[in-house]
Amino acid sequence: MARGNPLKEYMEKRDFSRTPEPEGGSAGEEGSGGYRDGPIFVVHKHDASNLHYDFRLEVEGALKSWAVPKGPSTDPSEKRLALPTEDHPLEYAGFEGVIPEDEYGGGTVLVWDAGPYENLKTDDDGEPVPLSDQVSQGHLTVWLRGEKLTGGYALTQTGEERWILVKMEDGEADARRNPVSTEPDSVLTGRSLEGVEKEAEKGEEG
Ligand code: MN
Repeated sequence: MARGNPLKEYMEKRDFSRTPEPEGGSAGEEGSGGYRDGPIFVVHKHDASNLHYDFRLEVEGALKSWAVPKGPSTDPSEKRLALPTEDHPLEYAGFEGVIPEDEYGGGTVLVWDAGPYENLKTDDDGEPVPLSDQVSQGHLTVWLRGEKLTGGYALTQTGEERWILVKMEDGEADARRNPVSTEPDSVLTGRSLEGVEKEAEKGEEG
């Protein structure tokens, strides 16, 4: 099946001599982000002009991405707006740093949650429906095994550039938790947004 480079838009939007973000292009082994037991998800916390969370799922060698202004919830009654953004390279899963203010997506980024995920959707014959098909059908369901987010999550397309992210009803649902506010820091390095900023500044001086 012929298709364009899924990372074309990602690469066109960035000047890699200016941003510390990965260029992509060495996808593969490195891209699994250290998790070897299946495809991965990652949620970046991104303090750009508006603070938001970027929800990313590994699909066919790239990270399918949605910007979630309020971040994911563990409460099934909370529907979170999710705006599709360009595919990111797999190496992006481990990216934390400060993107210069005048560059695309300028602001501080940390890995708010990450881990493997499982595809929950099967067809009438009980065969798994590929995630890429679920994305084009506008409805996908996955089981996350993160540190903050666990259990079933559904992403449903409700408009041309508009999806909704919602926690599914299962044993991992918990309306009392609110990890976006109670667990703000990186699962990768334990750093806060301020910590990432300070270290980036130090790096520039040194
Ligand atoms: Mn973002």
